[in-house]
Amino acid sequence: MTLTIPFDNSYATLPPRFFTRQVPEPVRAPQLIRFNTALATELGITPGTPTEMAQVFSGNAVPQGATPLAQAYAGHQFGGFSPQLGDGRAILLGEVVDPTGQRHDIQLKGAGRTPYSRSGDGRAWLGPVLREYLLSEAMHALSVPTTRALAATLTGESIYREGAMPGAVLTRVAASHIRVGTFQYFAARRDTDAIQTLYRHTRDRHYPTAETPVQMLEQVIARQARLVAKWLSLGFIHGVMNTDNTALSGETIDYGPAAYMDTYHPVTVYSSIDRQGRYAYDNQANIITWNMAQLASCLVPLMPDTDAAIQQLTAAVHAMPDLIHAEWLTAFRAKIGLSTAQEGDEALITDLLTRMANNQADFTNTFRALSGEAARDQFTDPTAFDDWKPRWQARIASESAPQTTMRATNPAFIPRNHRVEQMIQAAVAGDYAPFERLLTVLSRPYDDQPEAEDLTRPPLPSEVVENTFCG
Ligand code: AMP
Ligand code: MG
Ligand code: MG
Repeated sequence: MTLTIPFDNSYATLPPRFFTRQVPEPVRAPQLIRFNTALATELGITPGTPTEMAQVFSGNAVPQGATPLAQAYAGHQFGGFSPQLGDGRAILLGEVVDPTGQRHDIQLKGAGRTPYSRSGDGRAWLGPVLREYLLSEAMHALSVPTTRALAATLTGESIYREGAMPGAVLTRVAASHIRVGTFQYFAARRDTDAIQTLYRHTRDRHYPTAETPVQMLEQVIARQARLVAKWLSLGFIHGVMNTDNTALSGETIDYGPAAYMDTYHPVTVYSSIDRQGRYAYDNQANIITWNMAQLASCLVPLMPDTDAAIQQLTAAVHAMPDLIHAEWLTAFRAKIGLSTAQEGDEALITDLLTRMANNQADFTNTFRALSGEAARDQFTDPTAFDDWKPRWQARIASESAPQTTMRATNPAFIPRNHRVEQMIQAAVAGDYAPFERLLTVLSRPYDDQPEAEDLTRPPLPSEVVENTFCG
């Protein structure tokens, strides 16, 4: 069996200033940790031998049909603009079009230095590679748009973070890697021709029904509104919503410091570098709107009448908070079993959330337990729940299938931080069993899995992970 990736590359045909052609830097002793056979089948990729796949997915061998390159982009990082970022440790091998006609990027992350590496080493270590593999595949199983993980390899080399760590490479699959920051890169250079080319490429690839830049922006905003509402409904904190980590496709991208909340609190932050809480759980709706405003600014030069352009693009951005709110309300209605809308639903939801925040309730377990008897046990003062419950029960009395609605939206399993950390520690010691187990359990997050009950448990005080890192 020979690994075959049916490449059909479009980004490489864009003008040379969009990227730098760059082959991955070879590594010493590649070893395949995991290959996502199910995803490969969806993509029309034929797997090869483990040795062959280790070579290709570590960057040691460039597969037939690949046109390896590092993409140029800019970005606002924590609000400050960097005009030149780009793939500092990632190489786009090329694209495949799956049997349904959907195009996907195949990218190696941790593949060595590129002209955009600045002071970085171009590498990734095993921890963040397995973390992204697991979190992105879990996100997919939770039915949220996301990049996927096709493979993870060890490089056989040490890299230096807090000491020597095993080097690794993740093969990431994305609808594209076009970011808000890609538009910003050309806007910062006043390169209107390039913005036009990027706009057409993005529209053809992701928004074929958009007839104008304003329409494309409206569609991007609609997707991002739905995406962030889904994150909120799962207690997900992206952690580094810089404009270079906001994908035009509407997929979740870059799981560096990403985490799911255990105990619910709206201002929760995990990322070690997010000292001001810019990317806190409850600020994500504001930030995505801000990011869309940055995208909107980039599109102004594409329209002949600047005043009209600014007016229409601004209107699209100003509509976003209401869109997010509507998506949020739909998502949280479902979480408490409502598939119809009534006046007072929002107050019922926010009342529950306030009580949860005041009582250290576990976000995932509280919602999951609403279908059973144990919800009150999640509250330090269970009467805080008892007081809310009769109003909720009166409300769901008029719903036809609240249990079904709740079970389809309230997962039993999320990748809890402490389990992810324990999994990484085991993997560093050579034991991949916890990684495999988490992947298996998290592939069916909405199903009861009695043998995996331990994975629903919040961390013990000694297990709490206070901070996550970009890696
Ligand atoms: P991130 O915060 O992960 O979105 O990364 C921001 C920028 O830093 C991107 O341009 C990355 O390619 C670059 N970068 C992150 N880590 C490294 C690294 N180890 N070596 C080179 N560039 C990196
Ligand atoms: Mg990034
Ligand atoms: Mg990152």
